[in-house]
Amino acid sequence: MRVPMIAGNWKMNTTVAEAVELVNEMRKGLDEIKGVEKVVCPPFVSLAAIKELIKGSSIKLGAQNLYFEEKGAYTGEVSPLMLAGLCEFVIIGHSERRQYFGETDEIVNKKIKAALKAGLKPILCIGERLEENEAGKTAEVVTGQLKSSLAGTDYPSGFIIAYEPVWAIGTGKAATGKQANETIGLIRRNISEMYGEQAAQDVRILYGGSVTAANTAEFMQQSEIDGALVGGASLRANEFLSIVRQTAEIRK
Ligand code: PEP
Repeated sequence: MRVPMIAGNWKMNTTVAEAVELVNEMRKGLDEIKGVEKVVCPPFVSLAAIKELIKGSSIKLGAQNLYFEEKGAYTGEVSPLMLAGLCEFVIIGHSERRQYFGETDEIVNKKIKAALKAGLKPILCIGERLEENEAGKTAEVVTGQLKSSLAGTDYPSGFIIAYEPVWAIGTGKAATGKQANETIGLIRRNISEMYGEQAAQDVRILYGGSVTAANTAEFMQQSEIDGALVGGASLRANEFLSIVRQTAEIRK
């Protein structure tokens, strides 16, 4: 049985004070919900403060990115070694990084390897763009991204995949549960071919893209979907709590 995960990607939102306030608003409620792994991914500058705040709580911490070198003259970058002492998870290959910061599958692959080497658990984001979806290329794009991102890695245990169709991110236009389930099933079959059936049964694959309290149930009722990577809605304490609570209820 895969434990469902709900991870909040706060993106470039919240000052340190606001991040602390948001966690304070959610902490008690989240701790009362069992059977779901809950992760928050605030901006880098808030990681240390949130790490202190969640001591003794069931909330886990993730970063939104990293650089693939361990140290050196890379002004402004954050290394896997710096994150290793701070958080457990790291989002890698988010479509906003691909779109605005030129991240290619090759860079994503280097980041995945660097994260694994440092003992961080990657949340690898893959997903097709609108024109690729409309051209019927979803399976091809997602398979290509998955294989290139994981090239040269052994089975990365503890590793998470998030299927995030680019056209659904931050648009309010989520995929349907059925669409997401089909593509996630395909990703799982790919993992089976690459690493064997046990790995495919173990790996958690999340859906991401305009998940809200209103559509959570549609996704969590699908057999292949192991949780959600939530952007906008994770910044609203009550809504994030409702998403986690509904997931626990449906998956118990
Ligand atoms: C995300 O940032 O990964 C995401 C899915 O965003 P949103 O939920 O806002 O679409």
